[in-house]
Amino acid sequence: MSDSAPNLPGVRLRAALDQVPAYVPGKPAAAPEGVTAYKISSNENPYSPLPSVVDVIHEAAGGINRYPDMAVTGLTQALADKLGVPAEHIATGTGSVGVLGQVIQALCDPGDEVVYAWRSFEAYPIVTALAGANSVQVGLDDHARHRLDAMRAAITDRTKVVIVCTPNNPTGPMVTHTELERFLDDVPDHVLVVIDEAYVEFVTGDDAPRSIDLYRERPNVMVLRTFSKAYGLAGLRVGYAVAHEPVAQALRKTAVPFGVNSIAQAAAVASLEAYDELKERVDSLVAERTRVVEALRGQGWFIPDTEANFVWFGLGERSAAFAEAAQEAGLTVRRYGDDGVRATIGETEANDVLIKVAGDFLSDNPVNPS
Ligand SMILES: *Cc1c(COP(=O)(O)O)cnc(C)c1O
Repeated sequence: MSDSAPNLPGVRLRAALDQVPAYVPGKPAAAPEGVTAYKISSNENPYSPLPSVVDVIHEAAGGINRYPDMAVTGLTQALADKLGVPAEHIATGTGSVGVLGQVIQALCDPGDEVVYAWRSFEAYPIVTALAGANSVQVGLDDHARHRLDAMRAAITDRTKVVIVCTPNNPTGPMVTHTELERFLDDVPDHVLVVIDEAYVEFVTGDDAPRSIDLYRERPNVMVLRTFSKAYGLAGLRVGYAVAHEPVAQALRKTAVPFGVNSIAQAAAVASLEAYDELKERVDSLVAERTRVVEALRGQGWFIPDTEANFVWFGLGERSAAFAEAAQEAGLTVRRYGDDGVRATIGETEANDVLIKVAGDFLSDNPVNPS
């Protein structure tokens, strides 16, 4: 599929690596001279960390000659208290991508199957292929939503994990609690359902999944969350799972020892404590999201409902042209081949440029993409 490494004499890489797609990171911001550059390609929080969190980071930096607390005690307890779950049911990792890798490693042997919607998060095919497991990708519907019935139908005896990404990256819609509950009623007990809620703090829609309730009621449900998006700590790499035994314990076994470093642990605890302050920023990003979506739809774009901090343009073959037009205006967006383009809701100025670029693009290319 991609960059298969040449086998050096005597060194035999696993054939499974040939199936591992290379992760395409969001490009750094770049703009023509005189134009302000905005990176809206990685769903990052545009706000810098809170001063109180930066203070804690400075203080923790003074102790990095020591290994971090391997059991991540403080953060684990803080999360358990906040969510009202036993501390043994929390497992942390180096970003929720790290935790997801631990999940697949803990559950999948070569030839096992992982079912997820597509398009969805680009890490899913990577962590699946790394384990030698097979991806079963179930196409989204016309509104860029999960087709949970089709995902249920795709489950076989080899299926070990189903990932439900809600809201879905890169398209934006969430699944509803009602839909998810009906789906879970039908999924065999031996299949672990991972609810990936990287953007849960941005969700405002009706009937949003009450994922912690679903986990409480069902031993085969796991919730995956991160400090990278709403909490603004993408650079520190902290994510966590809420899972029953034996899954939670398996995640501790498959974790990189000391993976969550001491600065990350301290910053995550401080961010949980400062969540009221962070919530104001989340609220203003949500307000900006509403403004952007209304403006784009007003221009004639079909934009799927988004419950996250980004919008999806289903541009098809015109994705490259759109990404180029955005770049000329200073916006680095994320293009997904000839499927579409995802743009992160950023600072107001970046959002204004996005609205302008999208409007101009439609005037120059009058066919309404959908
Ligand atoms: C950004 C994102 C994550 C979080 O990744 P981290 O490794 O925690 O930074 C997880 N899932 C989805 C769907 C995402 O978009």
